[in-house]
Amino acid sequence: MSDLTTFREEIRSWLNDNCPESMRTPVTQEEQVWGGRNVRFASTDAKLWFDRCVEKGYCVPDWPKEYGGAGFDRQQTRIFKEEMARLGCRAPQVNLGIWMAGPAILEFGTEEQKREHLPKIARGEIRWCQGYSEPGAGSDLAGLQCRADSDGDDYMINGSKMWTSGADESDWVYCLVRTDFDAPKHNGITFLLFDMASEGVDAKPIELITGETHFCQTFFDNVRVPKKNVLGVENQGWTVAKRVLQFERNMMSDMESSAVRAAVTPRSSAIEHIGLVDGKLADPIFRQDIARHEIAKRALDKTQQRMADEFAEGVGDMNVATILKYVGTEEEKRKYELILKIAGEHALGWSGDAFSDDGFSDEELQLTRDWLSSKTHSIAGGTSEIQLNIIAKRVLGLPENTTVDKGGK
Ligand SMILES: Cc1cc2nc3c(=O)[nH]c(=O)nc-3n(C[C@H](O)[C@H](O)[C@H](O)COP(=O)(O)OP(=O)(O)OC[C@H]3O[C@@H](n4cnc5c(N)ncnc54)[C@H](O)[C@@H]3O)c2cc1C
Repeated sequence: MSDLTTFREEIRSWLNDNCPESMRTPVTQEEQVWGGRNVRFASTDAKLWFDRCVEKGYCVPDWPKEYGGAGFDRQQTRIFKEEMARLGCRAPQVNLGIWMAGPAILEFGTEEQKREHLPKIARGEIRWCQGYSEPGAGSDLAGLQCRADSDGDDYMINGSKMWTSGADESDWVYCLVRTDFDAPKHNGITFLLFDMASEGVDAKPIELITGETHFCQTFFDNVRVPKKNVLGVENQGWTVAKRVLQFERNMMSDMESSAVRAAVTPRSSAIEHIGLVDGKLADPIFRQDIARHEIAKRALDKTQQRMADEFAEGVGDMNVATILKYVGTEEEKRKYELILKIAGEHALGWSGDAFSDDGFSDEELQLTRDWLSSKTHSIAGGTSEIQLNIIAKRVLGLPENTTVDKGGK
């Protein structure tokens, strides 16, 4: 028996023994475990599953053991993910630290920064948020104005960030600040890490169309941050920022396995609301639409797998993350439009007095929220239009459009 076959059997048996039954079901946004100083668990099973995974380094299986990971190589990581998916295990922890801050620290951090931050992310002790966008800098991210003025060994931060997901519940932020106002805009940016509990930080939640308030406008008023918290080099933060966007876009191209695994799919919705005749879906048009979606999803999964393999072999092209983000998030929107058409009036649930007599189930209410949420994914992490601009410029090598700004995000 090969080493990898033995490894697979060990992982399978560990998951069977340790993942509680209730953690093998689809997860809603409310049930996700975000980690952090104020970590919340929706059930005792969620805590048990989290604790067991933390102990083994399974929140970050591919990180080195010395930083809290399981130290798995590429093939082992893939097997681990396959076995998690086979059993339907929930991610034990979701956190921008795992997806973005941690990988950036692994790549650009000093040894001191790695030892300080990575084990805390792996153990779910610190929740991270992203301070990139500003009221006047979204797609044109490099135009950001939040400033960091030198004051001895520290910077003083002043300005405001916009759409900061989870800022009011996060412990640390990785933040883009301007440290040189005279340099060309991409050259005066610094990538800074700091504690959201610092004096002068204020996060004000913004309510979304879904009724949730998961992001904030964040204000910095004379926030003192040690210069040793720069990740990478002062004024060269754009390089780190772009890399983090690639991590983000890669993660967002496959939200289902990264974060939320939805309970409802076009197929399950069709079986429930349309029904089968002789084992076939009764409506041929929906049958065709569902087949189209499932083929697109399968192709995306395979391309993601190929991309991961190419990276592990050092021949990957990071621009592929842009293509996958565009394709993945647009397909996600089409998927929810399709589910909505199939479910008909069952997908029009909402909470509040006007709907309280209509008897929508929790699952139906969740579906409406997920449909609305899907629309945000082609905006967050850089809009679809910006992804198309990047593909045109960096992948296809087309000449630049000189009539509009390039759009950093
Ligand atoms: C759910 C969600 C979570 C988010 N979380 C975070 C977070 O945690 N941290 C953070 O920093 N930011 C976050 N964002 C912000 C996100 O990164 C920005 O919304 C995004 O980059 C777009 O910027 P903007 O909203 O300023 O829109 P704008 O840049 O003003 O764009 C408006 C429209 O113009 C189009 N457009 C702009 N420039 C061009 C161009 N050059 N060519 C073609 N079309 C163009 C855009 O595609 C868009 O349709 C989040 C956003 C969402 C929706």
